[in-house]
Amino acid sequence: MAIDATPRLEGGAPHYRICPLCEASCGLEIRTDTGPQGPRVVSIRGAEQDPFSQGYLCPKGVALKDLHEDPDRLRQPMRRQPDGRFTPISWAEAFEEIDRRLPPLRRAFGADAVGLSIGNPASHKIGLFSYFPGLARALGSRNMFSASTLDQMPKQLSCGWMYGHWMSVPVPDLPRSDLLIILGANPAVSNGSLWTVPDFRGKAKAMRARGGRIIVIDPRRTETAQAADEHHAIRPGGDVFLLLGMLHTLFAEDRVRPGRLADHINGLDELRALATGFAPERCATHAGLPATTIRQLARDLAAAPRAALYGRVGTCTQRFGTINSWLIDVLNILTGHLDSPGGLMFPKAAAFAANTLGRGGQGKGVTVGRRHSRVSRAPEIMGELPMSCLAEEIETPGDGQIHALITVACNPVLSAPNGARLTRALEGLDFMISLDPYINETTRHAHLILPPPSPLEDWHYDQVFAQLSWRNHARWSGPVMPIGEGPEAPQAEWQTLLRLTAIVNGLGPRADLQALDDLALQAELQRSAGDRAEQLFPMIDGGAGPARWLDLALRSGPYGDGFGARPEGLTLAKVRAAPQGIDLGELTSRVPEILRTPSGRIELAPPALLEDMQAVTAALHRPLDNELLLIGRRDTRSNNSWMHNLPVLAKGKERCTLLIHPEDAARASLEAGQMARLSNARGSVLAQVEFSDAMRPGVVSLPHGWGHDLAGTRLQVAALQPGVNMNLLLDEDDRDPVSGTSVLTGVPVRLSGAENVPTANH
Ligand code: SF4
Repeated sequence: MAIDATPRLEGGAPHYRICPLCEASCGLEIRTDTGPQGPRVVSIRGAEQDPFSQGYLCPKGVALKDLHEDPDRLRQPMRRQPDGRFTPISWAEAFEEIDRRLPPLRRAFGADAVGLSIGNPASHKIGLFSYFPGLARALGSRNMFSASTLDQMPKQLSCGWMYGHWMSVPVPDLPRSDLLIILGANPAVSNGSLWTVPDFRGKAKAMRARGGRIIVIDPRRTETAQAADEHHAIRPGGDVFLLLGMLHTLFAEDRVRPGRLADHINGLDELRALATGFAPERCATHAGLPATTIRQLARDLAAAPRAALYGRVGTCTQRFGTINSWLIDVLNILTGHLDSPGGLMFPKAAAFAANTLGRGGQGKGVTVGRRHSRVSRAPEIMGELPMSCLAEEIETPGDGQIHALITVACNPVLSAPNGARLTRALEGLDFMISLDPYINETTRHAHLILPPPSPLEDWHYDQVFAQLSWRNHARWSGPVMPIGEGPEAPQAEWQTLLRLTAIVNGLGPRADLQALDDLALQAELQRSAGDRAEQLFPMIDGGAGPARWLDLALRSGPYGDGFGARPEGLTLAKVRAAPQGIDLGELTSRVPEILRTPSGRIELAPPALLEDMQAVTAALHRPLDNELLLIGRRDTRSNNSWMHNLPVLAKGKERCTLLIHPEDAARASLEAGQMARLSNARGSVLAQVEFSDAMRPGVVSLPHGWGHDLAGTRLQVAALQPGVNMNLLLDEDDRDPVSGTSVLTGVPVRLSGAENVPTANH
């Protein structure tokens, strides 16, 4: 299938590997040969026979070769010396040091003294994703943080409340849709987010060719908007008012038709009452869109036989992120488009999906606020606290203060608000361990860095994104390269995490990992299979580590062989025997089976969201300031902070530029290409100006994840084009209080020519 214009390397024997670099999870065909220095990659292209991605890849996929060969990528543990330099040590030395330093801190200061922070890349690594929860349980610390509260937590929370599980997130069924309305997302660049849809452009083109329509609502005329039928430049942060205006229209014009779902919903009357105060004329100014547009969007959504309204990161990282996420699903439900072909539908993954386990149709639902952060009293959600609380939990003395931190595949110094404060906080830790391939802006503070193997040295099964995919599938990837041998060879991530878990559990640095894993697997079997556990244990395939857990999940999953009960069903062996993947068909209707709410119905009016609506009403009554607003943006050659060191992606024109509408530039007397200073009460950064009439006037844009100019990192390529860290302008206290998610978009800033102000970013 056709791809983009990315140059491809040519060469030898094929391997098939799911690309681990973004949510699209494309199947890659990788060829290798043996050069003078050993095995090397000679070719990476989209795997044409992959039933899911059908040959697609983007420029980042090709960069896996650069990642594998990157001289800055760590191959063995590193210890930070008193002068700040890192020196290599053996795995045994690393774990002995951890055993000497970590347990005493827990004994002295309690379980909360050790914080944990995990980043997005972990969801692409089965070893990390499967074994991280065990470490978190062993630590028993309330101080657990992740990138979710810089990204998708609002959607997971609203779905948890509505459908009963955090991972029951519906995705557009694009191949059967007549109308797709996209709000605050740019899938032409991202290939989906909380929606795994490789080659979105190709699918969108095919949809439009058969008469379908795409409407994009975004403050910038994004790459997706440029390929769409309509674009509406909303005011940043205006989403909630657009969505409420649409909701009002549906009720006022008697267009509410939930169809088949009418028998499965609670809360319709509450929604009707709530909508009365939000006529499009009242919402228009705050949405930044004419009332006629708001009304027409509601009518279009209601009238289309098969349609989906999809919103993503721009809708989540706002003050009303959870309300936005909720209303998007509400609008789909009220127009009959949820769980319906061509609308928003729920994928059914072959393994690890909680919404396929047990008896469907009813459950415990989700619980939040079981504990709170110590300093800001932010509630726990999904077992974690807001990432923006991390710095204050390290800095503030008292019971429960963080004295040690373990970071796993994350770089919050660049990805969280106010990285400067976090930098100072990390410098004060008694002990810090990072599982990471790089010495980056965050891990430079670690006392020890434990690197993973390269993705090409590791096997993988897509555990997370199969639950968010445009089509159901099961795909396994074997290692492409040998992992190496000997005491300094890379260690599988599951082994690193299990070794840390053993140390935390007081078993020392040399515990028998296989025996520990056996015990954990037997306990899981006991929970899920009861009396049959002893009989089933020897039947589990996979040898060691996550492969055995995968076999168990596949065989007991919705397409599994049930350990012989359905001989035609999936097993690890069958999935491994199909390295290009197994197609499990188009999305199917799953309500009520998917529901896990205590009522067994879809909850349209979660109480916490109705309560937060008071703040929306208050915001609607506040006049708008005429401020310049800063938004982020996504680039095909970048994904968060960690791909800027790969030469094939770094080459070309400067990408960390300040996009500004020419009218705004003229008002500030700025020329294209000059440096400008953006500042606000939180900080100040210098950025290169790029004119763009794709920007809504009054809105400027900087991409996120840049700022590679800090001392002590080892990112030689990234340092040549460091860009600026837009998060220095963000306020760590500014978050959606419902989900704890940081406000990352629509942030007020002032703009001036750089010559008027000091030159450093701070
Ligand atoms: S879109 Fe690009 S980075 Fe994402 S999975 Fe596909 S090839 Fe990899």
